[in-house]
Amino acid sequence: MSDDLRELYQEVILDHGKNPRNFHESDGATNEARGNNPLCGDQLVIYLKLDADGNVEDASFLGKGCAICMASASMMTDLLKGRSGEEAKHMFDAFHHMCTGEGDDVELEEDVEKLKVLSGVREFPTRVKCATLPWHTMVAALSGENEISTE
Ligand code: ZN
Repeated sequence: MSDDLRELYQEVILDHGKNPRNFHESDGATNEARGNNPLCGDQLVIYLKLDADGNVEDASFLGKGCAICMASASMMTDLLKGRSGEEAKHMFDAFHHMCTGEGDDVELEEDVEKLKVLSGVREFPTRVKCATLPWHTMVAALSGENEISTE
């Protein structure tokens, strides 16, 4: 990765970390789950509002955590709106692979490409959990679980 690109990525992460999007409790959330990453101290709640077919009408979150965790949750909730449950899980798979190199290399849709700014965590194993915590929590919420921990 070039230094310019690294700097740009840093800026995007800091911006989302400082001004997280969708940072509020959801009106009429149907599903919610709590995520905990004791290694770093990240704690958040993901709120999902699903329609009768399981499509994500609205997504938001609350909590506290490091810039990477907040940025990841901020971008994720933005991208989730209007997606089906299947699409949300597909996005999780793609993002998980991007951060860990594990699992199948899932093609990212063009509008999900922006998540690549977070893929730098691959070089920092302890940061991977920060970036993926909101996603694990989202998948838990989707499947009706209420709590997950990275430990
Ligand atoms: Zn963290």
